[in-house]
Amino acid sequence: MRDLVIIGGGPAGMSAAITARESGIQDILILERDGQLGGILQQCIHNGFGLHKFGEELTGPEYAWKYEKKVKELGIEYKLNTMVLDITKDRVITATNSSDGIFELKAKAIILAMGCRERSKGALNIAGTRPAGIYSAGTAQKYVNTMGYLPGKNVVILGSGDIGLIMARRMTLEGAKVRAVCEIMSYSGGLARNIEQCLNDFDIPLKLEHTVVEIHGKERLEGVTIAKVDKNRKPILDTCEYIPCDTLLLSVGLIPENELSKKADVDISSITNGAIVDQDRQTSCEGIFACGNVLHVHDLVDFVSQEAELAGKAAAEYIKQGKKQTIEIAIKTDGKIRYTVPQVITDSKDVTLFFRVSDIYKNAKICVSDGDKQILSKHRPKLAPGEMESITLKGEQICGAKELYLSLEVQ
Ligand SMILES: Cc1cc2nc3c(=O)[nH]c(=O)nc-3n(C[C@H](O)[C@H](O)[C@H](O)COP(=O)(O)OP(=O)(O)OC[C@H]3O[C@@H](n4cnc5c(N)ncnc54)[C@H](O)[C@@H]3O)c2cc1C
Repeated sequence: MRDLVIIGGGPAGMSAAITARESGIQDILILERDGQLGGILQQCIHNGFGLHKFGEELTGPEYAWKYEKKVKELGIEYKLNTMVLDITKDRVITATNSSDGIFELKAKAIILAMGCRERSKGALNIAGTRPAGIYSAGTAQKYVNTMGYLPGKNVVILGSGDIGLIMARRMTLEGAKVRAVCEIMSYSGGLARNIEQCLNDFDIPLKLEHTVVEIHGKERLEGVTIAKVDKNRKPILDTCEYIPCDTLLLSVGLIPENELSKKADVDISSITNGAIVDQDRQTSCEGIFACGNVLHVHDLVDFVSQEAELAGKAAAEYIKQGKKQTIEIAIKTDGKIRYTVPQVITDSKDVTLFFRVSDIYKNAKICVSDGDKQILSKHRPKLAPGEMESITLKGEQICGAKELYLSLEVQ
């Protein structure tokens, strides 16, 4: 029996491991399928990481190294090239690697930290042929940043999430011409700072309310047809425009890697596609915790680390003291607030609710109420789906509540 097994050695897994060790747990094992620790940050060589957490601008590998160094200093055990195949509700883990073969472990607590993956072109149903030259933005990022290959010279990017924006700049810096970034929504899904620094600084056009309607080319991509969309996101065909290009990068969303969570029967939110958790990031399965992008997609890794600290500390307390649930408060939202994490509160200490909105709202008031009683309201000049928001409630504000309701009042 192991005390704590962490699945995934990215920033979430490493940060959770460090906090659990600092909270007194000696027996910790990280299982990582890749050949090194660091997760996706290994390929994110641009800067902008760590501003919140360390007050300095780091590259992805520099940020990851701070954690990897600490994992090593603390002597936390990890196994690389080790793929976890299965976990059960009662915390039996099945994994495999080339030296141990297939092996089983039982743990007092598990932390799920498997990150997320990109939505693929199969999910998009674009008409036309299937030539070479179409990549997810993350795959192109790996080719350029870690393998030294430039996937193409004339690029169109579909989707304006952060990875797409960052790749628009990266491809430009490597000598490619980025013809356009097309975004089906009326706003970008990326951070405002990335629109400025990755598109506007390089005169790359962002075509809002536009999508790719056709792919051209047989062996290699020759071009794409783009069109404006109406308010129902249907292409307006007389706005079609042909753009010659040899590369199409897709940045159309991230999906938490929750296959293992589902095998363990963890309750999954249909909105985040991650586990439903309490303030300690404990899932519906006792002793199984989740943090980082496997729980909900974060825009900044700094908040991933912060969330993983919560999970690591709570898993350590659980290992030492078992489950201690004192209350149960469900958190509901109106449609304007898409979701919160956590979705349930089981302890009456101070709690920070993280959430995303479903559209752009200006001059909005975030209201938290318990039935007819308003607990808190906060003004925000602007809210956008691409930016994760948070609100902190004091223990005394939620004490005695049955259900909390988060809503947005927009003038
Ligand atoms: C392509 C891409 C680019 C990004 N660029 C940025 C950026 O520029 N700035 C930013 O702040 N954020 C960026 N992000 C978000 C970034 O991923 C997160 O902020 C952060 O890396 C999430 O940490 P994590 O530990 O939750 O996930 P990850 O970093 O994805 O780590 C998860 C780890 O779990 C391992 N794993 C998964 N399944 C298993 C299994 N079954 N068995 C064993 N190991 C497993 C994976 O190999 C991986 O190492 C990017 C994300 C992606 C996908």
